[in-house]
Amino acid sequence: MADLHCALCGRSMASATVYIGQLPVGPTCARRAGLVEAARKRRGALRLQLLPRTPAAQRDSRTLDLFEETACA
Ligand SMILES: [Zn+2]
Repeated sequence: MADLHCALCGRSMASATVYIGQLPVGPTCARRAGLVEAARKRRGALRLQLLPRTPAAQRDSRTLDLFEETACA
């Protein structure tokens, strides 16, 4: 078993949903921080651990990201 800790809230978790570079982020933090959507768009160093079922890439000219205080509790 891998000892994963969310890079945003520090909680241990079974599996990461998104990786920021090599830092794993749990599902709750990833969604609340908008990392899932960002990773789908391959923004920056974000990587999705699980492949989304989005068939076609959707591109927005401008998308605002809202980072809120989150936790994977
Ligand atoms: Zn977290």
